[in-house]
Amino acid sequence: MDFLKKNMQKTEVQNENDGKIREVENGWMNAKKAIEDAIFELGKSYFEANKDNAASEFAEKIETIKNKNREEYMWHQYRLSLDGQRLCDSCNSIITSDSAFCNRCGAAVAPIDFSDILGTTTEKNNQSEASSEQVIYCHNCGKKLVEGVIFCDSCGTKLE
Ligand SMILES: [Zn+2]
Ligand SMILES: [Zn+2]
Repeated sequence: MDFLKKNMQKTEVQNENDGKIREVENGWMNAKKAIEDAIFELGKSYFEANKDNAASEFAEKIETIKNKNREEYMWHQYRLSLDGQRLCDSCNSIITSDSAFCNRCGAAVAPIDFSDILGTTTEKNNQSEASSEQVIYCHNCGKKLVEGVIFCDSCGTKLE
């Protein structure tokens, strides 16, 4: 009996200790996370404030971030193109990849050259048909469009 009692006490102590360890590790991890978040925010603020300052002592790193931002944008566009889509360069709306004009803001959009990220000339994107959405026709050029668009993506006419 004495043995059992001793063991039970040990278990209680162990449980209490486990709880304590969790509590301490939570405090520790939360503090670490807060430091990392603050450093990230600090770096982001510094980048925003100094991205056009070539004389900055971190000019090289700033240049890397700017280049990678452009590259990331191209990968994003390329990923969308696999679904027959792209981003409007002006308003960032997702539009069909064969659009000549954005159907949200009406801006003319230029075809995208992916050779920078692919190292080769890009193959023509397969344009996918609009799936189950309601279809309307442009009153100017007759292009088949998805209902709800504001501008024809073929001729740029504003649709009412
Ligand atoms: Zn747009
Ligand atoms: Zn049109």
